[in-house]
Amino acid sequence: MKIPLTEKHPLIGQMAENRVVFWPNDHYSAFQPDSSSSILKKEDIMEADRRLRRFAPFIEAAFPETKAQDGIIESPLVQADDMKEHLGTRYGVTIDGALHIKSDDSLTVSGSVKARGGIYEVLKYAEDLALEHEMIDLNEDHGQFDSEKFRDFFSDYTIICGSTGNLGLSIGIIGAALGFKVVIHMSSDAKQWKKDMLRGNGVTVIEHEDDYSKAVEEGREEALRDDKGYFVDDEDSKPLFLGYAVAALRLERQLEEKGIRVDEKHPLYVYLPCGVGSAPGGISFGLKHVFGDAVHPVFAEPVHSPCMLLGLITGMHDEVSVRDIGLDNRTIADGLAVGRPSKFAGKLLAGDIHSFYTVQDEEMYTLLAELYDREHMKIEPSATAGLPGPAILHQNLNRSELQDATHIVWSTGGSMVPDEEWQADYMRGRGE
Ligand SMILES: *Cc1c(COP(=O)(O)O)cnc(C)c1O
Repeated sequence: MKIPLTEKHPLIGQMAENRVVFWPNDHYSAFQPDSSSSILKKEDIMEADRRLRRFAPFIEAAFPETKAQDGIIESPLVQADDMKEHLGTRYGVTIDGALHIKSDDSLTVSGSVKARGGIYEVLKYAEDLALEHEMIDLNEDHGQFDSEKFRDFFSDYTIICGSTGNLGLSIGIIGAALGFKVVIHMSSDAKQWKKDMLRGNGVTVIEHEDDYSKAVEEGREEALRDDKGYFVDDEDSKPLFLGYAVAALRLERQLEEKGIRVDEKHPLYVYLPCGVGSAPGGISFGLKHVFGDAVHPVFAEPVHSPCMLLGLITGMHDEVSVRDIGLDNRTIADGLAVGRPSKFAGKLLAGDIHSFYTVQDEEMYTLLAELYDREHMKIEPSATAGLPGPAILHQNLNRSELQDATHIVWSTGGSMVPDEEWQADYMRGRGE
C-alpha cells in the first residue's frame, strides 16, 4: 500500500498546513571533497573563476558601472549590528556572534544573485562558440567580445530560458549585450516591471498562465526545435551552479580582509533563500570546498513553496512537487516560487546542507521594512528569507554549537526593483 506523503515524516503534515517549520537535516555529515562519485569538483569551480576573470575586460567595457571593480561582478559584505539586535528582540533570543549581510541585492548588471550563475552560463556559451569558430583563443583579450564583429556573429544564435523573473533579467541583459537573440518564458507570477525591462532590452518575453515549471518546460521544448538555440536550464544546469559556486572564493577573500576567522572553533553559518536550489546549492557547494566542516549552509524557503525541503526530507528530490502535499506554490517571493526542486542540487548536497526552515510571506514584508529602517538597505521580499535564520538556529540548537560563530545572511536581490514597487512593499511591511 502506498503511504501518503504527509505520513512519511511528521514535519510534512505541518508543511501541508502552511505552518512554519525547522528541519535539522538528518543526513548532514562530514564533507567529502572531490569524492569519486561527485559529478562536480573543486577544479570546476576554479575553472569558472578563471573564465570570469578572462571576461572581466568585456564586462567592464559593456557595463561601465563595473569599472570600479575591474569588471568583476561582486557584492559587499556588510556588518549589521542594529539588525542583529532587532532580530534578537523580534524572535526572543540573544544572538551570539556577528551578523553580516552578503549584499547580492546590490550586484551590478542585474541586481540579484542571478548575476552570478546566469551571467556565467551565457559567457561560457559565448566563449565555447567563439572558440569553436576560431574567433578567439583563451589567451586573447576578451574585451573583443564587445564589438560589432562578435555581436554580428552571435546574432544568429538564440538563448532561451524559463524564469520567475530574476534569472530572465540576468540572461536577457547579458545575452543582449553580447548580441544574442534572447527568448524568456515567464511564469504568471513574474512581475510586470521585469517583463517591461526585458522587452526594453530587445528581449522576447513569452508569458505563461502556469507556474515556473511549465515556463521552463516550454522553453526547453522551444530550444529543442532550434538548432542554433541554447537553453539555460535552471532545473538542471551545471554551468549555472558553478557560476554561483565562485561566490565562495570571493567570500573567502572578504572574510580574510575583515579579519574574520573561520575554522572548527569559529563556525560560519550562512543563510540562503532557496527556490529551485541552484543558487543556494552552488554557493554551498563552493563554501564547503573552501571551508569544509567549518561552514554550515542553512536554506530558507517560503511556507507555500518548500520544494527543496520536501525533496530532501522524502528523498524524492525532483520526483516530488509541493502540490503533492496540497500546497499551492503561491508566494509573493517571486524568486522562490518554485514547486519542484533542481534535478541534481539536492542529490549532490544531501549531506552538506545543515538545516532548513520556512518563512511566511507577511514576515518577509515585515523584515524588508525592518531592514530598511535599521540598515538603510532596500531589498526585495524574497531576499529577506535568510534574516530569521540566526534566531531560528538559536531557538533550535545548543548554545555550544553557536559559540564564536559568524552569521552571514545572503540578501539575494533588490536594487533593480522600481522605487514605487519597493515603497509599496515597505508600506505593507510597516502594516500601513
Ligand atoms: C532565484 C532567486 C533565489 C534562489 O535561487 P534558486 O537557484 O532558484 O534556488 C533567491 N532569491 C532571489 C531574489 C532569486 O531571484
